[in-house]
Amino acid sequence: MPCLVTKFGGTSVADVDHINRAASRIKEEVERGNDVIAIVSAMAGQTNELVDLVTRTSQFYDAREYDTVASAGEVVTSGLMALMLQGMNVPARSWLGWQVPVRTNSAHGAARIDAIETRNLRDRFDTGMKVAVVAGFQGISPEGRVTTLGRGGSDTSAVAFAVAFDAIRCDIYSDVDGIYTADPRIVGKARKLDRISYEEMLELASLGAKVLQTRSVELAMRYKVPIRVLSSFGEDSAAAEGTIVCDEEGIMERNVVNGIACSRDEAKLTIVSVADRPGIAAIVFGSLAEAGVNVDMIVQNISEEGRTDITFSCPTDQVTTAETALSEVRDRGELNYRALLTDREVAKVSVVGIGMRSYAGVAGRMFSALAREGVNIKVIATSEIKISVLVDRKYMELAVRSLHDAFELEAAA
Ligand code: ASP
Ligand code: MG
Repeated sequence: MPCLVTKFGGTSVADVDHINRAASRIKEEVERGNDVIAIVSAMAGQTNELVDLVTRTSQFYDAREYDTVASAGEVVTSGLMALMLQGMNVPARSWLGWQVPVRTNSAHGAARIDAIETRNLRDRFDTGMKVAVVAGFQGISPEGRVTTLGRGGSDTSAVAFAVAFDAIRCDIYSDVDGIYTADPRIVGKARKLDRISYEEMLELASLGAKVLQTRSVELAMRYKVPIRVLSSFGEDSAAAEGTIVCDEEGIMERNVVNGIACSRDEAKLTIVSVADRPGIAAIVFGSLAEAGVNVDMIVQNISEEGRTDITFSCPTDQVTTAETALSEVRDRGELNYRALLTDREVAKVSVVGIGMRSYAGVAGRMFSALAREGVNIKVIATSEIKISVLVDRKYMELAVRSLHDAFELEAAA
């Protein structure tokens, strides 16, 4: 029997009515002749509430008990979904992570999947079960304790099951009907993409298009599992084709640029006048890493009289941690600098596209578009398929819209 993985996010199982609707989708797939592994998230907002209960109970909580509590939301939805399907005469059974089992490492709160055993589920599929409703986001450690995979982890559960069971497809249902050329709340004319490559999706996911957990895209890319992102809210299921995230070989028409991403809460820090000699950058970024600061862009200027400036960006809520870490190394005499300048009012805007590998001129076109709007660029960083700039936060929306126009994303084929 062909096996299909379908995953329902929190908003798709937010209450009994939504579970009913999701169950109808699953039933349609069973009627098409598929065995279905349905991965469910917790009801919308539930995991936040559970995490909140943990932090209110214990300030320095034991991560193993955090996982016991945080995994509970999916326990509820897996049982409810199985009941709903049974009520529709679909032979369904719920499966918690340990029952499958989904074997993970012991990194509680952010565990990695080592292996998914397929025998138990296959035996049950062979003896009449049509749907395995699997609690997403959870597994079992080598010590036999419940683990969770990190926030948003049921996306990764879904892709991992698709890999383990060699599924024909992995459908991920959420409250958005696909991946867009830009955030539709910013660009009204943003277009839904039929297809997007894993590489582009990874850039967009890490740039703040919060549709798929980054790890799930990495996993899908490694094993070449196509993911279909679609909405469970559309009335007409045939119309809701969604967006397929796949290998670039699967994409005929490659646009130079496929998406404009932005992330609002960025900060820019400049360390003024540090010695330009080997080891300084290692001290700076070593201390930031140790403090847990998520450094993104890094720029170092040419030096004058043996001194240089280093600029980097990080999330706004990590600025204080970064400032403390740097002043500590300065106090210890390991680093000498004149000043630390902080700009908390910046945003990052990026253009992403695999076509950039083979087309010149993307940077020029991007910077001209920003110049026409009078948007000043503060920092530039590039990768093979992405150009990112930091701009004043108040110009972020304007920048995104003008780039969407400049790259003709509305009209592209
Ligand atoms: N329920 C978990 C969370 O909210 C996992 C998920 O939904 O993907 O992060
Ligand atoms: Mg999610």
